[in-house]
Amino acid sequence: MGKKAAGLGKNVRKSLTTNAKKWLQEISADYSALEYTRAVDTYIMEKIKENPLKIVISREGDVLMSANLLWATDKDDGSVVLYLENKKYLFPSNENVKGAFCFFDKNKSGGSVEIDLNPTPPPCAICGKPMEIFDEIASCPTCGAASHVLHLQEWLRMKGACSVCSTKLVLGENNKILPA
Ligand SMILES: [Zn+2]
Ligand SMILES: [Zn+2]
Repeated sequence: MGKKAAGLGKNVRKSLTTNAKKWLQEISADYSALEYTRAVDTYIMEKIKENPLKIVISREGDVLMSANLLWATDKDDGSVVLYLENKKYLFPSNENVKGAFCFFDKNKSGGSVEIDLNPTPPPCAICGKPMEIFDEIASCPTCGAASHVLHLQEWLRMKGACSVCSTKLVLGENNKILPA
């Protein structure tokens, strides 16, 4: 895919990485045709054909992916999850997102959020590979060391303790990470 067009949009990075509800409120303040309904902590987009919110992911100007948002949710650990029409999940965080800007069509029947990725996201505490926006992350409740969620779960099943601080941890209900 090509280079993305330069231009100024509304900065929505902070809410994108901390609060799905606030993020959607900030967008719909300028894009009033954007409709969504709430089901528990999940915000489901309506009229995605007529009034879509397109999510464009790029790194250093190169577009990696682009698809309409289907829903957004706040997880109980304070992170945000987006689910797109191309069946991809996104886990935007302060670490993997460098910038996020909102743009609207002239008549405000469509909008987009352009997410500019951090070119060097931090490494997983277990495998050492970068933790990207496409990767679900979990953290040690004691020291905060972050890992790919599947790697941390596998590690805890084998070792029963954090790989960084050695605090004994167990996987509780829904694979929630808890002190042993
Ligand atoms: Zn990993
Ligand atoms: Zn730890």
